[in-house]
Amino acid sequence: MSYNEFSQEKLDKLIQIQDLFKKKFDIDAYENWFYDSESELLRLYNSDEDEIYFKYIPVGSYSREKKTWMWSWFNKSSIEKSKEKVLIIKEFGAKNHYEKLQEGTFPSDEFDAWEFTSICLDFLNGIGAYKVDSNGLDKFMVIMAVEDIDSKTVQQFKQKKVECAEHGPSRPAFVCQHLDCSTVRGFHEAFDTSKGMELEEDDDFQAWCDECEKVRSEHGGWNEESERFAQIKLVCENCYFELKEFNQISNN
Ligand SMILES: [Zn+2]
Ligand SMILES: [Zn+2]
Repeated sequence: MSYNEFSQEKLDKLIQIQDLFKKKFDIDAYENWFYDSESELLRLYNSDEDEIYFKYIPVGSYSREKKTWMWSWFNKSSIEKSKEKVLIIKEFGAKNHYEKLQEGTFPSDEFDAWEFTSICLDFLNGIGAYKVDSNGLDKFMVIMAVEDIDSKTVQQFKQKKVECAEHGPSRPAFVCQHLDCSTVRGFHEAFDTSKGMELEEDDDFQAWCDECEKVRSEHGGWNEESERFAQIKLVCENCYFELKEFNQISNN
């Protein structure tokens, strides 16, 4: 079977499944979406009372600007663990010499993207497909199941207000201007933290380097001057813990 025949067959199947999916969950009635790559959850909602959560698997992303496709398994900034599951399509592509299924990234169009999504939907036994537009990137997902989530997860989910170019939506965190992942500079925190921990309403992840700590203690704490030296900047929670690992561990 040629790739075109194969993908057309899957696309036809997607259209049928998608129809049921939309009707069953009244998908088009939700005006807003939000996804979280860490918990691999997609939230569709109109309000806090009118919402639904789905478990998803990322298929890949299509850049409308560059007109290129990138499979999720190839995308280093895609942090979903389930992207590994998409590798069975790559293997299948290699066996059948379907180039588009094997290469990580290449020039493409949106039609291709829907074909890839339909292939994944079929291979992974999804219940539907969804596309979100995140910073000019169309991110394609296979929806696996409706998810009942507890209130703690819901709360964490809603705290994710930073759209990190690298990690997608995440909770906000604050670090001094000096911290990066190229030179170890020490890592001082406002309180002990761990990734994914629960945060009180008023708490934020906050960290600064050795130099800042010196200036801070010289000034007896944070004041105008020590803050000017630190130039605290906003990063995402995932970036924060990358910085922590780099600047702290190597410091010990
Ligand atoms: Zn600093
Ligand atoms: Zn980040």
